[in-house]
Amino acid sequence: MRNVVGLLRAAFCNAGRECKRSKNPVAIAPGSDTMQTRASAFRRMAVLFVVFVAAAGGVFAQKRIIDLKPTVILISLDGFRYDYIDKFDTPALKQLARTGVRAKWMIPSFPTKTFPNHYTIATGLYPEHHGIVDNNVWDFGTTFTIGDRTKVQDGRWWLGEPIWVTAQEQGQLAASYFFVGSEAPVKGIHPKYWRTYNGRVPPQMRVDGVLSWLDLPVKERPTMITMYFSDTDDAGHEFGPDAAETRYAALNDDDYIARLVNGLKTRGIADKVNIIVVSDHGMAAVDLRKASFIDDYIDIKLDTNRILYTNEINQIFPKEGKLDYVFTQLQKMPHATCWKKGEIPERLHYNDGARIAPIVCSTEVGYIVTTHARYANLMKDIPDPERPRGGHGHDNRYQEMQAVFVAHGPAFKRGFVAKPFSNVEVYNIMCKILGLKPAPNDGDLKHVRAMLR
Ligand code: AMP
Ligand code: ZN
Ligand code: ZN
Repeated sequence: MRNVVGLLRAAFCNAGRECKRSKNPVAIAPGSDTMQTRASAFRRMAVLFVVFVAAAGGVFAQKRIIDLKPTVILISLDGFRYDYIDKFDTPALKQLARTGVRAKWMIPSFPTKTFPNHYTIATGLYPEHHGIVDNNVWDFGTTFTIGDRTKVQDGRWWLGEPIWVTAQEQGQLAASYFFVGSEAPVKGIHPKYWRTYNGRVPPQMRVDGVLSWLDLPVKERPTMITMYFSDTDDAGHEFGPDAAETRYAALNDDDYIARLVNGLKTRGIADKVNIIVVSDHGMAAVDLRKASFIDDYIDIKLDTNRILYTNEINQIFPKEGKLDYVFTQLQKMPHATCWKKGEIPERLHYNDGARIAPIVCSTEVGYIVTTHARYANLMKDIPDPERPRGGHGHDNRYQEMQAVFVAHGPAFKRGFVAKPFSNVEVYNIMCKILGLKPAPNDGDLKHVRAMLR
């Protein structure tokens, strides 16, 4: 570009006009230049103008999209707590919220873990109904874990109907640059475009990948697109929700959104696409020195068939005849609330469903619940246990667990602040925008209709 500008300037100078940047400006002497020199200078300028336009086109050219159908881009920022927008002052998200909708917060489902909540957002079902009842799930005589690729890609684990299946069953196309559940054929269906999850794929590449799907001809272009970024969850766990490191991670997430919005602008569709930014849950500060130990109260080998552990929720499967004993013993354990399945508070929507353990223990915020062996294993790699860290998975009534919701586009009001609502509502919002008939779900559009135009 600089060369083109330079050439143009040279052309102007040669044409006898005053060159402002030149040390020795050449003035036009009236009557001194011939018709010939004028004509040749004009030709030269015309040629250079064409070169300039072509070069500028090469730099700025982006085919504008003029045949966009109602489109949703659902962006998940893992562990982006509801208050990070203000606490960390994230400009792109603030701008979307100012000109769109923002919820005071969005209420995650219990347990406030990554897999259950992403799949709730995708299906509108509570975990008790969609089957991903925790990051670890017991069924088919085996344990599902989020790191087990084969199980994550096995459709048997994923119940209900995620939005990408709803869209494709009703004749639209879906695409996923990562989203929990998108790698498994649910009802035998994958999004038309999808990727095996790999957290090392650079986030900017994910954004550009989504933009390239929008550049497809209308017949191949997806209308329902999901994306996923884990920066704030990674930093939140390692440094806690109040750390400068977590602020940088939130600003990274914000940059990815800015990159996406800029890409939409250059295509002329920034105000035509509906962007919904969500998180799966928040993040609470944890002091790793504050722990309760399950094996101080029961004999894990003798009393249980298995325990599916996380620091914040433990699923306990007592041996036959030991349910009451284990339950009574665990009532003595501090910094956790243990319930029998069927007696879990209704507000948690966590009693139905074959996969919920006979006893569920939910950890108090700020603490961890584990066993002595697991604790020793955890602490052996931690030289500075006094430093705060972060966790989630607790009861969804904790303010620290609340999630973010920001939405922008033709379907959404401008500058609207919504009352807190449950994340089971997102599925119906997306169906409404795309003109899809929703599958049976736990949400009700009446809870969120006020945010829609
Ligand atoms: P959590 O243990 O609940 O904090 O889980 C967060 C982690 O889930 C992230 O760090 C990701 O590595 C992982 N994750 C997110 N999406 C997927 C996916 N689609 N498949 C496998 N792992 C994922
Ligand atoms: Zn998460
Ligand atoms: Zn996490």
